[in-house]
Amino acid sequence: MAKVVIIGAGLTGISTAYHLEQAGFTDYKLYEKEATAGGLCRSIYQDGFTFDYTGHLLHSNNPYFTTFLHETIGIDTFNTVNRKSFIYSHNTYTHFPFQSNLYGLPETVIAECIEGFVSKPKTLKKNANFYDWALHMFGKGITEQFFVPYQQKIFDYDIHKLSSSWTGRFVPKTTLTDIIKGALRPPLQQEAGYNANFLYPKSGGIYFWVQRLIQKLKKPIKTQYCVDSIDLTNKIVTFTNGDFEHFDELITTMPLDILLTLIKEPAESSVKKAGKKLLCNSVANFNLGIQNPNLTDKHWIYLPETQFPHYRIGFYHNFSSSMAPEGCSSLYGEYAYLKKEKSEVKNTIDTAIASTKKLLNISDAQVITQRVVHIPHAYVIYNPWREKNLPAILEHLTSYNVHSIGRYGAWKYSSMQEAVLDGKAMAESLLIEKSSLKSTYVPQSPKEERI
Ligand SMILES: Cc1cc2nc3c(=O)[nH]c(=O)nc-3n(C[C@H](O)[C@H](O)[C@H](O)COP(=O)(O)OP(=O)(O)OC[C@H]3O[C@@H](n4cnc5c(N)ncnc54)[C@H](O)[C@@H]3O)c2cc1C
Repeated sequence: MAKVVIIGAGLTGISTAYHLEQAGFTDYKLYEKEATAGGLCRSIYQDGFTFDYTGHLLHSNNPYFTTFLHETIGIDTFNTVNRKSFIYSHNTYTHFPFQSNLYGLPETVIAECIEGFVSKPKTLKKNANFYDWALHMFGKGITEQFFVPYQQKIFDYDIHKLSSSWTGRFVPKTTLTDIIKGALRPPLQQEAGYNANFLYPKSGGIYFWVQRLIQKLKKPIKTQYCVDSIDLTNKIVTFTNGDFEHFDELITTMPLDILLTLIKEPAESSVKKAGKKLLCNSVANFNLGIQNPNLTDKHWIYLPETQFPHYRIGFYHNFSSSMAPEGCSSLYGEYAYLKKEKSEVKNTIDTAIASTKKLLNISDAQVITQRVVHIPHAYVIYNPWREKNLPAILEHLTSYNVHSIGRYGAWKYSSMQEAVLDGKAMAESLLIEKSSLKSTYVPQSPKEERI
């Protein structure tokens, strides 16, 4: 029996455990189904190359998170890198974000984008879909040239049915002046958007950071414990190996759609059925190790055009030189899909790899090593059903002292920074609100701003 049971040792679960311990609370157990903790923030070490589960770059815009990085790992273990990110379309590389950097595109495309911006709809209806939102923000030209094809690829979902509630922090805004300036000359500096610069571990890939964090925990993580069922009434978690654990409070970071299939409730329960309606796509991530020291100095490239089935490629060796052996480069590609047959996915990855090699002039002989990784839960689909029903699902679970948090627990589009902050907020709210857990807890920074 543990007062607090945490399911999932990804960043959110680890952060929850860390912040409980920091407050002096150790009556918890942290269970993870894989043999290695870290969730999406693990790295693969293969033939001298380090690959992540696609590029995982750290962006900090929260004072507590910056302090956390200093105190837990030491900021000197990270490279601070100024972003060099591009969009490839019309046989041209333009700088990110597309909407403010049209320089280099055909004149007709630039004219279409500016005309569209000038005549964009002035008002936006409540609960607008993503397409209407993009039209309202950027006009028809920019929407059709970039946002429609790109977002269609990254979600693999009709963007007219996609909500726009996730856009706030992720899509940089622009003005007519910026569009015109950005069409007349290359950018003087890159500073737009939430990811203008980033931190990345000097060695070991993103897992280096998470591993150091795990080492800070006083209690071991119980790996290879996969939740099989959760009895809400009797407060018992059972694992596939037959073990079970009683809890007062259950914090779960496993994907919410799976959690809902594992809870023991009457079959006709509307919440249990709701799990089937939550949508999330998958990402197939291919990684290549390449015998070429100067493949590119770019960090990543967005690929909106349909000649590429994947939406983005990135270059690990430019995040940190330790990611590839001397004289080599390394890249990743990301192909998103919603409910597709395995064989179709496999064929599409082959096409994605071939088109990437052609774009970057990589010969077969230069590819030293290759690894395809599948991320079954990748991008949560924000549709009206989610907006309407998610709060009630989470509240229902909370009424049984089950708290579903993190990127897939709370069913949202969020970053590593947010995972750490979610874990902190969870630990604090438990210790403050549940006096049975600990009455002496004093929060160190009670009003941290959430991103
Ligand atoms: C393609 C992609 C690119 C990304 N790039 C970035 C980026 O550049 N920068 C950034 O900040 N963020 C990025 N993110 C987001 C980042 O990965 C997440 O915000 C963060 O890793 C979420 O952590 P988590 O702990 O909430 O979830 P997870 O990492 O998914 O952890 C959940 C854990 O639960 C475990 N689990 C699942 N089921 C069970 C079960 N039945 N029993 C026990 N354990 C279980 C899993 O094994 C896993 O370890 C990216 C995400 C994706 C998909």
